[in-house]
Parts: sequence; C-alpha cells; structure tokens
Amino acid sequence: MVDSYRHKGMRKRLIDSIRKKGITDEKILDAMNSIPRHLFLDSSFLEYAYDDKPFPIGSGQTISQPYTVAFQTDILDVQKGHKVLEIGSGSGYQACVLEELGAKVFSIERQKKLYLKTKEFIDGLGYSIKFFYGDGNKGAPSFAPFDRILITAAAPEISEELFSQLKIGGKLVVPLGEGDVQTMIRLTKTSENDFSEEQFGAFRFVPLLKNKAND
Ligand code: SAH
Repeated sequence: MVDSYRHKGMRKRLIDSIRKKGITDEKILDAMNSIPRHLFLDSSFLEYAYDDKPFPIGSGQTISQPYTVAFQTDILDVQKGHKVLEIGSGSGYQACVLEELGAKVFSIERQKKLYLKTKEFIDGLGYSIKFFYGDGNKGAPSFAPFDRILITAAAPEISEELFSQLKIGGKLVVPLGEGDVQTMIRLTKTSENDFSEEQFGAFRFVPLLKNKAND
C-alpha cells in the first residue's frame, strides 16, 4: 500500500483539474487530495486512478468519476459531525471523502462480494465508516435520523423509508431518473411530509437496483 511522490503528484494534478471544472470548496479538494485513490483500483490500473473518469471495480460496478464525487459532495453541504447515509458503497471512495470532511458515515451496498471487499479494504486504511450489506432503499433505520443522505446510483424514485430517515432541515442528493442520463437533484426536507427540490444538471450513474440484495 504505497503512496509515493509520483502518486501524490498525479493526485495533485487531478485535484487541480477538478478545481478548474468549478469545484471551489478547498475542504473538499483537500479531502480528496488526502485519499490515495490508486489503492481503490486494481494495482494494474494505476495509470487510470488519477484520470478524471469513472472506472470498473468488479461485480459490474464502477468507482464514480472524481469530478462527480466532488460535485455530489459539494451540493450535499456536509458539516463536521453530520450523520451521513450513503447508498451504493461501491469502492468506498466517496464514503472516505465524507469521513475526511468530519462526517460520521453509514454506507449500504447490495452486492455482497463488493460489500465484503470494500469493508475489509477501508477498515484496513483506518477509516471508521459503518458499512452495511443490503438494499439501500430501506436505509438504516436503527441509525436514523440522518443529517444528509447521498445516493450514488441512478434512482427511479426515492423510497418513503429513506425520506423518513432524513432529519427535518436535512438534505438528500440523488441522480434521479430511469434512462441512461439522470438529473442531479437535491431535496431539502421542510417538514415530516414536505420537501423543496433543486436541480443540478445531467449525470450518468449505474442503476440503483430494487428489492432483494444480490450475492
Ligand atoms: N459511491 C461509490 C460508487 C457507487 S457505484 C464509490 O465511491 O465508489 C453504485 C453502487 O450502488 C454500486 O456498487 C451498486 O452495487 C450499488 N447499488 C445498486 N443498487 C443498490 C441498492 N439498492 N442498495 C445499495 N447499493 C446499491
């Protein structure tokens, strides 16, 4: 698990390119600069780790594009001490960014192999993220309510269970839509049953699958 000067240099260039694309929150850029992204990809793919592109991580899933991670994190508006629920752990990279920002992170993954691999790897890096295996649409009721909920897969809808686990005043970010392209949405919960909605443009995510978890 080496993080060499070469890796650090590549990472710095990636962070500079994300800043140029419009992410100006230095706390988010610092968080991403402190995480050795190349360790989240198979070692033979080092060359790709610091490209601003999504990349396959096995089980048919991808680690999101760094710019997309930065963008979702930015509009989620995470504060130190927040309880944040992530749906779609994938490689665990996004969850680490949230913990670096001072959040207590809970993350759900429905692919068992990926859940097991990611949990072991991220625990080994020294993060204290709480990973769950299961259907993210159900949330994590025993740890609710959450200040923030982040969905990192394309969702056709937001389940009532998830919405009910968001604090009043809390925010939920989701790429919403069923086709190839989704609209990034931020909901702010204004009362037990109401919310306001903002839209942030088009993105492409792998689908959020419904119901049963999958080994
Ligand atoms: N946040 C990840 C990238 C997520 S890719 C990262 O930083 O690497 C989307 C992930 O959502 C995939 O791993 C996929 O298996 C998972 N997923 C899809 N449907 C799900 C569901 N219903 N519940 C939980 N995870 C789900």
